[in-house]
Amino acid sequence: MMLAGTGLVGGLLIRQEEKDLRRWLDRLQTDRKALPPLPGLIDLKGVIHAHTNISHDSRGTADEIIRAAQETGLQFLMTTDHNNKRIFTEGPQGKHDNLLIIRGAEIVQGGQSLLAVHIKEYIDEWTHRPKTIQEIVDEIKAQGGLAFAAHPHTFKDWDVEGIDGMEIYDMADNVYTQAWKLPWIATKALTLFDDYPDEVLLTLLSRPDPYISQWDLLTQKRRLVGIAGNDAHQRFVLFGKKLDSYQLVFRFVQTHILAPACEEGPLLDALKAGHTYFSFGLLADATGFQFTAGNSGDRAIMGDGIPYSPGLALTAQAPQTGLIRLYQNGKVVDHATAARLDHPVRERGVYRIEVSLSINGVPYPWIISSPIYIV
Ligand SMILES: [Zn+2]
Repeated sequence: MMLAGTGLVGGLLIRQEEKDLRRWLDRLQTDRKALPPLPGLIDLKGVIHAHTNISHDSRGTADEIIRAAQETGLQFLMTTDHNNKRIFTEGPQGKHDNLLIIRGAEIVQGGQSLLAVHIKEYIDEWTHRPKTIQEIVDEIKAQGGLAFAAHPHTFKDWDVEGIDGMEIYDMADNVYTQAWKLPWIATKALTLFDDYPDEVLLTLLSRPDPYISQWDLLTQKRRLVGIAGNDAHQRFVLFGKKLDSYQLVFRFVQTHILAPACEEGPLLDALKAGHTYFSFGLLADATGFQFTAGNSGDRAIMGDGIPYSPGLALTAQAPQTGLIRLYQNGKVVDHATAARLDHPVRERGVYRIEVSLSINGVPYPWIISSPIYIV
């Protein structure tokens, strides 16, 4: 009897916590202020790294993944089924109303994972012997694809040549490295998942410190695009509840690409150039965020290089007031709690932005931009 009473009080307390979170999230969505787009560019929101039942470990059908991407307002979806030949005959691709699907594969070799975006043919990981990561990257590039290091938790060959970028955030890695939270999340999921799925998932949102540090080290030597990998599978069901539905995983985090049009060529060019940022859209839609460098003549956006010159200034603008931090070569050099930060540049370096939002006094990472390289 006493045990049941304790459980009831506990359940009510949890529900109160989720209700508070819901109020904060609602307020963040309504406080949003639209920003005018940069001239000639559209902020396209999408997901990179998603599996369908062409992969051995996913239950999601093509129809389900398309519908979920459309329902969550994505403009592009880059599918990366586990490497097999069926991808190239059965995998969804092309325009589906306002959604553009670009297909590719996730190729795993020796415990290391590569996303091969927009490859057209099957790449075998073996020819008499296991291929090296470098050989696989070379084949991806030979097909005109883009190569990203995925699952940074287990990736080791960071000196591989030719990769376009890396996952700074991978949802699966994020869950594995917080496995100690899973019993608590499962308890919440059983009692609250129908009413408060986003609030339950917030428990898992944390800044991916080691992978950001790794990225900061690498970008001081070469340009590398930072993306979020959703690693959507839609496979976990607990007492009839889909814990990782496409809808939920797509709402959690998105990669934004600034491109002149939502077509395959311009989108892939902009991704390769690093005209990107990623955002935990579960907190608030970040569409409209911009990070630019300019003086009276030149202008650069995320991913670009621009020569240092006197008068050069960096500007970050977000559609929401948050804590904006400017990083130079991995160290914070300026910050403001505002919707805009202006910073006069005094030296060359690799500059990038992070914005965090405070919910109930707890800071959550919200936006992480690709760098501007001042050379
Ligand atoms: Zn995957």
